Amino acid sequence: MNGKIIIISAPSGCGKSTIINAILEKGELDLQFSISATNRPPREGEKDGVNYYFLSDEEFRNEIDQDAFVEYEEVYPGRFYGTLKREVRRIVEEGHNVILDIDVKGGVNVKKLYGSEAMSIFIMPPSVGELRNRLESRGTETAEWIEKRVERAELEMGYASQFDRTVVNDSLAEAISEVEMLMKEFMK
Ligand code: 5GP
Repeated sequence: MNGKIIIISAPSGCGKSTIINAILEKGELDLQFSISATNRPPREGEKDGVNYYFLSDEEFRNEIDQDAFVEYEEVYPGRFYGTLKREVRRIVEEGHNVILDIDVKGGVNVKKLYGSEAMSIFIMPPSVGELRNRLESRGTETAEWIEKRVERAELEMGYASQFDRTVVNDSLAEAISEVEMLMKEFMK
């Protein structure tokens, strides 16, 4: 039996990772996180092979040359992120459902590729101002990168209509249960 694909996309700072981790921790759904590859440096506490496969620029380029990606994007200038074919294949063939945390363009592309085998969910911040506050209080990025992320978020919010479902992350607890409910419905 093959598993299904759940795509979660959102502008950075919308609480997407928190929502995904909460659902994975509950463990009620047979879900496995697809670990992406990136050439961005690890943040404090991030581990290779857990949060991402952290690759050098050259290693990332080699994976592109070998056609190893389902999709990849230059999400921020010079920073590449990609979904590895072997990662998705392994999880699906083992019969588990896959959860992908990818940027909006990647989300739209993966949905096109997998069609009815995939459900795409867009997590929307309550507002751009709120998003900036969240990024500032998270404290993981410099002021310059916060600006880049906010700019990018504005562009990304324009993609929401291309997703199967949209969930506004106004209250975190409600967003978690809404996303979980959508997943349960889809996996039935
Ligand atoms: P971060 O640097 O905050 O971990 O991730 C930045 C952005 O890259 C997020 O929007 C995240 O969803 C996206 N991202 C992570 N992995 C992938 C991937 O494999 N493909 C694409 N297209 N985007 C990804």
